[in-house]
This record gives sequence, structure tokens and C-alpha cells, in this order.
Amino acid sequence: MEPADDQPASITPSRLSTIRRRKSADNKFGTCAPGGQCELHFEAAIFDLDGVITKTAAVHSMAWKRMFDDYLQIRAARHHEPFNEFAHAPDYLAYVDGRPRYDGVEAFLKSRGIKLPLGTPEDLPGRETVCGLGNRKNAIFNQIIEREGVGLFDSTIALIREMLQRGIKVGLATSSNNSEAILNKTGTAPLFATIVDGNVSENLGLKGKPEPDIFTTASANLGVPCARAIVVEDAVSGVQAGAKGGFGLVIGIARENNARELRANGADLVVHDLAETSLEQINRLVQARRASV
Ligand SMILES: [Mg+2]
Repeated sequence: MEPADDQPASITPSRLSTIRRRKSADNKFGTCAPGGQCELHFEAAIFDLDGVITKTAAVHSMAWKRMFDDYLQIRAARHHEPFNEFAHAPDYLAYVDGRPRYDGVEAFLKSRGIKLPLGTPEDLPGRETVCGLGNRKNAIFNQIIEREGVGLFDSTIALIREMLQRGIKVGLATSSNNSEAILNKTGTAPLFATIVDGNVSENLGLKGKPEPDIFTTASANLGVPCARAIVVEDAVSGVQAGAKGGFGLVIGIARENNARELRANGADLVVHDLAETSLEQINRLVQARRASV
């Protein structure tokens, strides 16, 4: 995998390369025990689920496409219009990725000039309402993961385990309503001291990404001020939420070759995979960012 071409937005490239050269313990960027670990400058880390921990972002994208293409074909036949398919970059990444399910349906339909009744979460999958279409997408998603399972990003799991060993509190914040099933399926639930997902959001009336509510709620649940916590996200709407929430650092994972968009929308550090960085580097970036604010 090629190294990310992006640099942290608030840190100059030359400063970053200096920080990278000092990857080994260095008292200039933190209080370090001789030959040992540096003092940590953040107390909590909040991770997104799909595309950060689990390889489910592609499954979501596939399920959205199948649902919307079916619906758009029905509409095209009904109105004698050309069928214009649901595409990955201009549609999925722009309107759906990371957002709560029904918000994603509404945002994409609006982009095509389509207005449907909201309906209710109890609407049968495929009913011609925002909720009905969202429920159909969810049914397709569940069919796929039931059949094919859920993969994990090993680099993310390794970083989370290292953080936990160093005493950092770890939380999960996701728009997904399927997080419980996915965490149980992958055995990752015990890693997280708090989980703020789509169901919690509905119960508490939290706004979805790009608003920061789910991240700030997770941070509050961990008893850590947002400025002392970091956010790890792969969606543009997610890094926007992290930036709005005033977190100590926002890490964007550019799984979609979208490093520039992530950086432009609030990511301080952009990587293609967390294997490209380290806890020590993240710690130094948190400290450097705080000093630059
Ligand atoms: Mg995601």
C-alpha cells in the first residue's frame, strides 16, 4: 500500500517529518521514561465501526447500491425516464457514507429531486417511504454478512489493544443499528467501555454525523473531555463530526482513496490504514496540535 500523500492539516509537512524522525522516545515531544514509554497526552479514543474496525463499509456500499438501483429502475419505468444508476463516489460517498440510515436515504433522494414520505421505522422493507427503503437496505446488508461473515482490520484491533494496555479508554461511536450483532459476531464487544450506536442515538435523540453528538456522548460516557480524546473515522461526515466536536485529534482513514477530502473536512492526520502510524506518533501529534492551537 502506498503511503498517504496527506499531512496533518494543522501541522506543516516539515514539522511532521521532524516528528516522524523522532518516533523513538524523545523528551521534546513528551515526558518519557529513559528508554521507555512517553507520557500520554490523551485519555480516550473513540472509533467508528464500519471501515475503521470492520470491513463492512464495502458491504454497506453494495447493499445501498442494490436497494437504490432496484428503486431507481422502478421509478424510471414508471415515469418513462432513463435509469441513472446509484454510483459509488458521487452518490454513496457524498450522500450516504457514515450518516444515519434514513438521513442517507433522504439525502440521496433529494440529490435526485425525489421527495418521499418519511414513513416509520416499522415500515416493511421496500415500502415506498424513506424508512421503507432504508429498511430494505438493512435487510440486504444483513443477508450479505450472514452469508459472508465480517472481516476485521487487524491494524485497528492491534492499536486498540495497545491503547488499552496503556490505560487509554476506548469507545465506539457509529451510526449503525447493527453494531451489537457485528461486535458479537467478531468478538470485539469487550474492547469498548462505551458504545454509542444508532439505537442509542434514537433513544437519546442524538443528531447523526456530520454533527458531533455521538462522539461527544461517547467521550462524556468515558468521563473524558473531548479535547483529551481522539476520533478515528473513515467517512467525510465522520471527520466533520470529529472536527466540530473539538477533539484532541481527528484521524481519517482513507480507505476510498479520499485522503484529500478527509483532510479538507477536518482530519488532522490521514492514513490509508492505521498500520502506517503508531501510538507514539499519534501521541506526539496530539501534543503538537494542542501547542499549535
Ligand atoms: Mg465508517
